[in-house]
Amino acid sequence: MRFLVTAGPTREPIDPVRYISNRSSGKMGYAIAEAALHAGHGVILISGPVNLAPPSDAKFISISSSEEMFDAVHRHAEKCHVCVLCAAVADYKLADVSRTKIKKRSKKFSLELIPTRDILDSLGRRQDRQFLLVGFAAETNDVEQNAAKKLREKNCDIMIANDVSSVKSGMESDLNEVTILFQNGERQKISRASKTIIARELVKIFQNSATKMFDKKNVTITERN
Ligand code: C5P
Repeated sequence: MRFLVTAGPTREPIDPVRYISNRSSGKMGYAIAEAALHAGHGVILISGPVNLAPPSDAKFISISSSEEMFDAVHRHAEKCHVCVLCAAVADYKLADVSRTKIKKRSKKFSLELIPTRDILDSLGRRQDRQFLLVGFAAETNDVEQNAAKKLREKNCDIMIANDVSSVKSGMESDLNEVTILFQNGERQKISRASKTIIARELVKIFQNSATKMFDKKNVTITERN
């Protein structure tokens, strides 16, 4: 199969030297890309700016803003059997990006923010979708409840819930602990382990779920160009 994986943060420019971003390290997404390659799958890795070396066997697409990630994902999704949207895409961007560096002022001022396009949601809405769609829900409270809501609202097949309130796992850490929520209401927990180990478990689950989905639709898994 071919996997599309998004990873890392996005940067939403304010002016030529400033941006809005978040603490995502990209470690979970890169671990999933590595694990998929290790299992013999093809991988397209679409990544925001991170301090990690991309796996050499993946097709690597480097992006910066949420718009660039949106375009890259939509360009490549149809070629893939599994799309794992692990990136921490910014929820807001500037209404107007300044073409020149904004000068320091002594008075307070505000920046006008508008919502970014939700990439996962846009893929979930595609009627013709021929791939397993997986989202990630990084939450600090009511973790599984919020993840279940996202699974429903964004119309994905699987949602991976992770608690990012703990410093021992989640964002920036090498460890993670996740709950996997399926469309049919089933849930499966993977307790605290390295992101490498978690990624290998996740890839097995995605592969099995995709196989079941294609069997149900009577679709043969073929190479896609
Ligand atoms: O709604 P929330 O941002 O918590 O949802 C997280 C999931 O949605 C992740 O899979 C993330 O990659 C995806 N997402 C997206 N585009 C956005 C915001 C989030 O694809 N603009």
